[in-house]
Amino acid sequence: MADLFDAFASTGTVLAEHGSPVIELVGARKTYRTGSIEFEALRGIDLRIEQGEYVAIMGPSGSGKSTLMNIIGCLDTLTEGDYRLAGDDIAELDEIDLAQIRNLRIGFVFQQFHLLPALSAWRNVELPLMYRQVPVGERRARAAAALERVGLGDRVANRPGELSGGQQQRVAVARALVGEPDLLLADEPTGNLDSQSTADVLGLLDELHQQGRTIVLITHELEVAQHARRIVWVRDGLIQSDEVIDR
Ligand code: ADP
Ligand code: MG
Repeated sequence: MADLFDAFASTGTVLAEHGSPVIELVGARKTYRTGSIEFEALRGIDLRIEQGEYVAIMGPSGSGKSTLMNIIGCLDTLTEGDYRLAGDDIAELDEIDLAQIRNLRIGFVFQQFHLLPALSAWRNVELPLMYRQVPVGERRARAAAALERVGLGDRVANRPGELSGGQQQRVAVARALVGEPDLLLADEPTGNLDSQSTADVLGLLDELHQQGRTIVLITHELEVAQHARRIVWVRDGLIQSDEVIDR
């Protein structure tokens, strides 16, 4: 973690000046290699997502949804094909640049929350701003405001273990939005939640979409996907259909 911190200090903000987070995948392929066994999880995906869109990616378990999210989120790179994020060719970037892109441009929400158990909600939400070296006072204030926004203003001092699943996921949403990223990626964000917490989290995503954020939501539940404006169906590593939802 310290290395990453130092790396930010030395590279400055080379990527901070770019515009909209248009996602553009062309002929995207991802092959996993385990020993001598190869598995092609993405087999040629063409996908373009414009700024401000709210897109759900659907498909059965094992169809490649999380692989696609990892690629879009710059957590992993393609084996073949191109990925451009806001015009940047991701293949040309090193680990440091990718970490910086993730920190500045992308907010992540995962099914398992991925909060740090030893830290309070407040501290968890502050983390993305620490990596950006935002001064402590501003950091605290923004984290508190983000927690307030997700309805947890009275829980800032609690650790994840002292919160319900729904509250933990709202902390994760606060962490994802505290840095004001253009792009929000959510992989099965309601997969571990009861129906009230699911409604809360989906309501927050709806709000963020209305405020102009680009959202990519991965789910295998149609009811969840129907909050989006467009549904991309993935099957066996390929896009099966891509439909705009009428309302
Ligand atoms: P989904 O999110 O749609 O359930 P994933 O993208 O997680 O699907 O996985 C797609 C396929 O790739 C699955 O068959 C899975 O077993 C395989 N896979 C995913 N991650 C790895 C990995 N790190 N190594 C090898 N195979 C993997
Ligand atoms: Mg998955």
